[in-house]
Amino acid sequence: MVNCSPPERDLGVQVPLLPHLTKEQLVEKLIFDKTLVTPRIINAFKAIDRKDFVLPEDQDIAYEDKALSIGYGATISQPTTVAIMLEKLEAEPDQKILEIGTGSGYLTALLAEIAGDMSQIFSIEYIPELKEFAIANLKKYNFKNLSLLTGDGKLGLNEHKPFDRIISSASSDMVPKAWKDQLKIGGIIVAPVGDNLVLLDRVSKRKFREEKIPGFIFVPLK
Ligand code: SAH
Repeated sequence: MVNCSPPERDLGVQVPLLPHLTKEQLVEKLIFDKTLVTPRIINAFKAIDRKDFVLPEDQDIAYEDKALSIGYGATISQPTTVAIMLEKLEAEPDQKILEIGTGSGYLTALLAEIAGDMSQIFSIEYIPELKEFAIANLKKYNFKNLSLLTGDGKLGLNEHKPFDRIISSASSDMVPKAWKDQLKIGGIIVAPVGDNLVLLDRVSKRKFREEKIPGFIFVPLK
């Protein structure tokens, strides 16, 4: 067969780039995808502005459904991933919650909004500069229920146990024993293990129900 199509040439036509998502479009997309379903979590996504947690050079792409670098080898997680984690965590008002891997503070702010003024949110970050970045980002929100700490989150936070919920944004080979020990019976851990997101539900002192969702990439735990 003869190829009759004309040779490709530059017609000088500019193909318009797709416009970046707005804050509202990002939330609508997460609802449309059925990633966000719980009203309290949807409202938190509306109240917390991701733009407040990205680097200055990424302000125009703050609402893209992508992880973005925040320096020091860390990323602000992809909104879809954050939404899946928060839906699985099922955080309730007034709970005591431990977060590992504060990073930008975006997930921290969402937790503080979801669990409300009477909750206690503790968040541990390994890199002091990132903790300072998170503090600066979170200042705009005036949360009274937050304690930010620097340290090794693998150890949990023994002095404030037991926790209703534990959530980690950094992955490891297995869920650290300290987190399981520091979880209330009836409590939930959401943490990345390898390429899976793992949900552990403590049904009794020694028994945990486990659910695995495959297909994630997270910054590793140091
Ligand atoms: N939820 C954060 C994700 C940040 S990436 C956000 O959306 O911004 C994961 C974070 O875990 C990084 O900031 C990294 O420094 C931190 N981290 C890695 N190992 C850690 C450890 N052992 N203890 C506490 N934080 C840790």
